Amino acid sequence: MPQLLDAFHDPQVCRPLVAAIRDRLAGRRLRFMEVCGTHTVALFRSGIRSLLADVVDHLSGPGCPVCVTHEREVALFLDLAAQPGVIVATFGDLMRVPGPGGRSLKAAQAEGARVHIVYSPAEALEIAAANPSAHVAFLGVGFETTAPAVAATVQMAKARGVGNFSVLCLHKLVPPALAALAAEKDLHLDALLLPGHVSAIIGTTPYQFVAQEYGIPAVIAGFEPLDLLEAVLAMAEMTAAGKAQVENRYRRVVAEEGNPRALAVMDEVFEIVDAPWRGIGVIPASGLALRPEYAAWDARQVFHLTEQETPPIPGCRCGEVLKGKLTPPGCPLFGRACTPARPVGPCMVSTEGSCAAYFKYRVA
Ligand code: SF4
Repeated sequence: MPQLLDAFHDPQVCRPLVAAIRDRLAGRRLRFMEVCGTHTVALFRSGIRSLLADVVDHLSGPGCPVCVTHEREVALFLDLAAQPGVIVATFGDLMRVPGPGGRSLKAAQAEGARVHIVYSPAEALEIAAANPSAHVAFLGVGFETTAPAVAATVQMAKARGVGNFSVLCLHKLVPPALAALAAEKDLHLDALLLPGHVSAIIGTTPYQFVAQEYGIPAVIAGFEPLDLLEAVLAMAEMTAAGKAQVENRYRRVVAEEGNPRALAVMDEVFEIVDAPWRGIGVIPASGLALRPEYAAWDARQVFHLTEQETPPIPGCRCGEVLKGKLTPPGCPLFGRACTPARPVGPCMVSTEGSCAAYFKYRVA
């Protein structure tokens, strides 16, 4: 990896790539969307956004799992935190995600709820095993990248007979969200930058419809600056040639078939369901739920949780940001009422959220 970073700083490598991108575009602009929060930040941090600002229009999509977690799913977090004897175990970036009325897990914790930040679902399971008088409910949020570890932990809980552990399963799937975006005529996308981490799990096949049905070129890329420049060049070349296909430019990590073991454990534990995405609405077959044979570890079943309609956060335009229809500075609250220190919407909470990235790198 260091050699990739070194190469980016080597003018002999970087300049020809930038020149090639400009050459292929031949005066026209490339309008692409990235659908991974890590790419959002990497494009800012590397300086590639500003380096190519005169030839590339860059949109951020629904690639931050915290950002796309719906208000009514956050309401479920809060319902869970209100249950007597429950310890909610969660990744730290969910603590400040606002739900109905702007309430978050952090507020619930301040009011006395037992909320523990963990670094893995396995850590949550160990807390349950060590606290038999409590029930530990883990918040399963994230895309295909996170879901296999959660599935494996549920299997472990079953195998070890840990009955005071459950998962609130809110995992989401990237390809159905891409289908929803690709169908949006007014986005006028030239190309898609596909997420490297998710692709390491699902492989390249689930994306083929983007090129075949919608005629949109797509590139799977890594996260180093050189990866990103090469991906932009690949998008520019396909656009110039009028060619739409899915190119895998992250072959050192992504295999065509993905990770069969991870896919198998997901399939064993989860079934595919419709899921709500913040600002987008319900996308068919875009979420995961625990299969009935794992009902004893399903927090929805254990605590009889049901999703309720919730009003959107007043003034927050995360929905348009997540669909690429608005850049964060276009939100009247950006940098004024809404900052990383006092976020109004989820896109300002997560470090991988578009609003937080725009704020940090101060893009006007
Ligand atoms: Fe939502 Fe804040 Fe972003 Fe506006 S700036 S869209 S309120 S997160």
